[in-house]
Amino acid sequence: MSGLEDLYREIILDHYRSPRNRGELEVPPAHRVEGFNPLCGDEVVVYLHVDGDTVSDVKIAGQGCSISQSSASMMSAAVKGRSVSEARGLIRSFKAMMSIHEQSIGGPGTGSDGHDGESPDLSDPSQLLEGDGLGELAALQGVVKFPVRIKCATLSWNTLAQALDEVEAGTPSQ
Ligand code: ZN
Repeated sequence: MSGLEDLYREIILDHYRSPRNRGELEVPPAHRVEGFNPLCGDEVVVYLHVDGDTVSDVKIAGQGCSISQSSASMMSAAVKGRSVSEARGLIRSFKAMMSIHEQSIGGPGTGSDGHDGESPDLSDPSQLLEGDGLGELAALQGVVKFPVRIKCATLSWNTLAQALDEVEAGTPSQ
């Protein structure tokens, strides 16, 4: 329908067909964490190598729907080479994008009392995302129209967050 939706669909399909950073890393020194989304059957394995304070390498394995796999591909491209704190900032921004939209489409059972139109100013969410450096990750914001798919989109990000936590805590890989 809109040109923007077409563009977003194309970005998602491109990452699904040609996933970035696909593969494995040697463990150790890399850290390996598996994520699973039972609602959809998605599986994402994140290999994370942190060198000092830098996410020096990320590889993605696993399988699942186009949303989960393209989100993992975009995630890997977005955080590779960044500092650990920048990576955590991206996780926060991405999850905020998903939850903001979750709220804006209305929770279950919310009646219309004519008073809930005051959602945060999202008239130009792409600008907000550019400010956060999410870039083409904005393509995934269309997913929030389908709440059951949000867990597909956030799976790899939650898995990355767990990997960062475990690296910082010195926990051995699974
Ligand atoms: Zn899925």
